[in-house]
Amino acid sequence: MKKTKQTTAAERQYLIEKEKFVPVSQYFGEDTFNRKAMKEKLSRETFKKLMEAIDEGKTIDAKTADIVAEAMKKWALEKGATHFAHWFQPMTGITAEKHDAFIEPCGDGQVMEKFSGKQLVQGEPDASSFPSGGIRATFEARGYTAWDMSSPAFIKRNGISTTLCIPTVFISYTGQALDKKTPLLRSIRALSKSAVNMLKLLGAKKVRKVQSNLGPEQEYFLIDMDYFFKRPDLVLGGRTVVGAPPPKGQELEDQYFGSIKERISSYMHDVEEELFKLGIPAKTRHNEVAPSQFEIAPVYEEANIAVDHNQMVMDTMKSVAKKHRLAALLHEKPFAGINGSGKHLNWSVADNNGNNLLNPGKTPHDNIQFLVFLIATVRAVYKHADILRAAVASYANDHRLGANEAPPAIISVFLGDQLMQILENIQKGTIAKATNAEIIDLGISSLPTLSKDNTDRNRTSPFAFTGNKFEFRAVGSSQNIASPALVINTIVAESLDDLAEKIKAKETKNINQAVLEVLRDEITYIKPVLFNGDNYSKEWEKEAERRGLPNEKTTPTALNALITKKALNLFEKYEVLSNLELKSRHLIHIERYIKDLEIEVKCLNNICMNQILPAAVDYQNKLATAINCTKDALGSAAVMSSEIELLKKILDLINSIYSLNKEIQRKVESVTSLHDEQKKAEALSAKVKPMMDELRKYVDALEILVDDEIWPLPKFWEMLFIS
Ligand code: ADP
Ligand code: MG
Repeated sequence: MKKTKQTTAAERQYLIEKEKFVPVSQYFGEDTFNRKAMKEKLSRETFKKLMEAIDEGKTIDAKTADIVAEAMKKWALEKGATHFAHWFQPMTGITAEKHDAFIEPCGDGQVMEKFSGKQLVQGEPDASSFPSGGIRATFEARGYTAWDMSSPAFIKRNGISTTLCIPTVFISYTGQALDKKTPLLRSIRALSKSAVNMLKLLGAKKVRKVQSNLGPEQEYFLIDMDYFFKRPDLVLGGRTVVGAPPPKGQELEDQYFGSIKERISSYMHDVEEELFKLGIPAKTRHNEVAPSQFEIAPVYEEANIAVDHNQMVMDTMKSVAKKHRLAALLHEKPFAGINGSGKHLNWSVADNNGNNLLNPGKTPHDNIQFLVFLIATVRAVYKHADILRAAVASYANDHRLGANEAPPAIISVFLGDQLMQILENIQKGTIAKATNAEIIDLGISSLPTLSKDNTDRNRTSPFAFTGNKFEFRAVGSSQNIASPALVINTIVAESLDDLAEKIKAKETKNINQAVLEVLRDEITYIKPVLFNGDNYSKEWEKEAERRGLPNEKTTPTALNALITKKALNLFEKYEVLSNLELKSRHLIHIERYIKDLEIEVKCLNNICMNQILPAAVDYQNKLATAINCTKDALGSAAVMSSEIELLKKILDLINSIYSLNKEIQRKVESVTSLHDEQKKAEALSAKVKPMMDELRKYVDALEILVDDEIWPLPKFWEMLFIS
């Protein structure tokens, strides 16, 4: 019998499944206009021109831009795109895009798909809806987006809509940065310049460029979407403002690296498939310490790309969650009493030949170079600990820093015992007693070698050296990593320049000798910031104070570090942020803090008045009715004192919640009348925040007493033990 083409449901299912198992290498990056796609779509000559421009950070002429735009349009249409969008990262913390259809009328009521070089290179979104910290008011109302050639354009699918997204920077017409990417790109350039100078001084001839690499480890929670939508606090502010910890949390330590549940695995699979199409090398995934908490980490990439990719990862995580009826929570502390989420930011520097400059090497030259970059970084962190702290300051991250799962607001550096020993030996000028295999040869003296496996780990340190990179652990999970990255790049650039000056000033002809002499002084200088112990301990807080390390616990005060003379001069000198830009950023962050806190206050008010108190009164009524019924049936003597006690407790809590909530509203009103934003933020943080925490305690006490049937909000255990 002749075979028909029809397949059975089982066969189709098999094919669908089989489709899923296409090796990643076959579709990785298919939704990006990457070098491979450019090569296919552009003439050799244009491709070469574009590559040169990208590699050298130059612009292209209008004619070439037209040709590239045409090729990009063709490619995007093949992918089903109907629109293009300039994709950018304004100061709101999330990405923005303004969509335009490709169509253009061509007479006779017909249209053609068109995309010009001009449209590719420059756009003009309505800038007034983005925070500028006063920049636009002072100068020019408009802002524009400009194509960032160094990050590939990509396809974004949303339901049935498909858009070509073009990564851009967002600046005012007078050239001021209005986004997170512009200063990042400037910091990448600054670091490269200083690092190349240093490498040349140390004798490297062929280095043209140095890049910073970033590997962000993204933590997040997943909860069922139905629960999510029943929590106004989660929907509106990302964090539960009330809620008692579950009877079982993370104390059994059974979640970390435990097997991943099927529903979660499927979600992760879908997320990764989307990321792979976008050319994002998602590499590791695992459970985290808290129930329903997970981590995804890509292979590290050049800073600019890594920043874009991390934004795309966060967007993808949220959108794919919906398909699985899940909500991905990226907030730093969604559940009080349960570990929060961070984003460990791994940072290193490499030259244009791919050599990691934080990798200890085999030759004396490599080792000297390693020590210079290592010590320059530690020195930078010490000198500008306050700015680094400010770079991770947000209302959300305040809940996490210094809780028992994240480093405190004190920025210290962990190097491990072995490296500390090496530094000590350099400082003392002694040669370590070690076997030959463990000797670091510095040409003029020898020190024990560092093997990567020997670098011990300290999970409590905010800034830890982990073999060939530093890991900045104070970054919040929802943050754009551009901010901490641009700070690290800039402060290290300055440190490298300072060290270079000092090395040049030494009279000795032997460069290694000069370097070691300089490093000796620097090691003495950086000593206070080095700490290998437990950063979570109370003793460290005291010790850090003795050492004079800053410890700004709240965002409003931490942000002051952005507008000190030291910070203003530094960012201006390296042309990363002008004084005006930095001051405006400070204001944006302060305003954001106020908004975040005020949203929570309103949420708390609504939850208390519309949900908690009505439920409590319901329960009060139930109890009182029961007591009266018992009395009617059996006489007063039969009523148990425990019932009366419970009823009284409920009444007390109702009273406390009502009055404290009222007091909070009053306090917020009086604070709002302050005209100075800095003072307003500080008052909210010092006065209102503690009252919110107290109110939460009453609500949480009530949650444990009230009938489960009546309680209006999903409880932590329901949300966190997902199946
Ligand atoms: P951990 O054990 O700290 O959880 P992970 O494997 O989860 O480690 O994440 C480590 C991250 O550090 C990854 O994103 C990885 O690519 C990145 N990384 C590794 N080497 C470097 C480097 N030289 N520079 C920057 N990031 C790096
Ligand atoms: Mg990890």
